[in-house]
Amino acid sequence: MKYFSLNRQSPAVSFKEATIQGQAPDKGLYFPETIPQLEKRWLQEMDGKSNEEIAFDIIHPYIGNEIPEAVLRQIVSETVQFPSPLVQINENIFALELFHGPTLAFKDTGARFMSRCLSHFALSGSEKITVLVATSGDTGGAVAHGFYGVEGVEVVILYPSGKVSSVQEQQLTTLGKNIHALEIRGTFDDCQRMVKQAFADPSLTQKRRLTSANSINVARWLPQQFYYFFAYKQWAQKECPPVFSVPSGNFGNICAGMLACISGLPVKHFIAACNINDVVPRYLASGKYEVKEARPTLSNAMDVGNPSNFVRILQLFDQDFTRLKEILSGATVTDAEIRQTIQKVKKEEGYLADPHGAVGYLSLERYLQQHPGERGIFLETAHPVKFYDVVEPVIHEKVPVPAAIKDILHLPKHSLVMEASYPALKQYLLDQ
Ligand SMILES: *Cc1c(COP(=O)(O)O)cnc(C)c1O
Repeated sequence: MKYFSLNRQSPAVSFKEATIQGQAPDKGLYFPETIPQLEKRWLQEMDGKSNEEIAFDIIHPYIGNEIPEAVLRQIVSETVQFPSPLVQINENIFALELFHGPTLAFKDTGARFMSRCLSHFALSGSEKITVLVATSGDTGGAVAHGFYGVEGVEVVILYPSGKVSSVQEQQLTTLGKNIHALEIRGTFDDCQRMVKQAFADPSLTQKRRLTSANSINVARWLPQQFYYFFAYKQWAQKECPPVFSVPSGNFGNICAGMLACISGLPVKHFIAACNINDVVPRYLASGKYEVKEARPTLSNAMDVGNPSNFVRILQLFDQDFTRLKEILSGATVTDAEIRQTIQKVKKEEGYLADPHGAVGYLSLERYLQQHPGERGIFLETAHPVKFYDVVEPVIHEKVPVPAAIKDILHLPKHSLVMEASYPALKQYLLDQ
């Protein structure tokens, strides 16, 4: 499989190059030249297959022989090690829980897959690869855990000192081994700027093979298809396919679901469930795409003003707005509605949603009211404990802390404090 740049100014590359480069030299996102089509028989027989087999069959055509089959099977098996249970909430609404991975959020799936692919490419080449990433919180944790102990890859994470939550900081700074945390005396924007300067500095990139681990990387995007298939496997009413409501920020997750659908996965409809950062829902309603500065909300992992993956969704539908509108609706949920939904779902259904899942739930409930007879799934993208400061005051109860987090809260923190200046970062990377 070859991947072309959506800006069409750079040559098409292999999966390996697309993974290592992240973004094309013309700043475009990589996109597969063809979309594999599943056979009807494969879908009918899916129920009898293991999650490992399903995931392997889905991803294999995207990678071809760039990773030997046995290695790819191992990578896939490590990626799908934790469950993605489909939990029935009421008669028509189900939750697909994607928070059973090590950092309790869905980003674990993409980060684990990407890290192991990069490790394979690093070990089969002669160069060590350094992953450089700036984080405002969640991405850093998923990337750190995904790459932890992975051979041939060093990870350098920049985070703004004093501006991430204590759980998030512990997830970044207590691992050690190949994970290095730089605590920057500045803001997230400073961290981001320093990382960008590093990628744009040939006197550094000639000496160090740098790669980014952000969500536009094909090796993070493509494996996110897996759990849409796992959901369908657990879906009892195969003759009536589900509506998927996906809490969306950068639109990588929902774009993976739509890719799965175009490959043949039966899906009735998609809902782009957004907080007040709702460029896409507005676009779907008006046909006008207006980028806005992100505004902070309770579902902060979705506070994105210009979702980077939306260009991939347009490409999936050949820029055909009419076709896109048939399969995709948008929804906007305010902070007040997030609080009300968390409270209501807890009280009436006995289920505790996190602020992102609550956006998905309410968007789905509204849609189903307009479409009687349909049933749907919202993606529960994070464990509520990650947002206990929002959730606990709403339900007037403590959220039990899962063992995975309890253990790290007491580990010693290891970070290197650094001024927000590029020369300091450059020197650090050269000394590595
Ligand atoms: C990243 C994130 C999202 C948004 O996912 P996108 O792929 O960027 O649309 C939603 N919920 C949580 C908890 C996240 O961490």
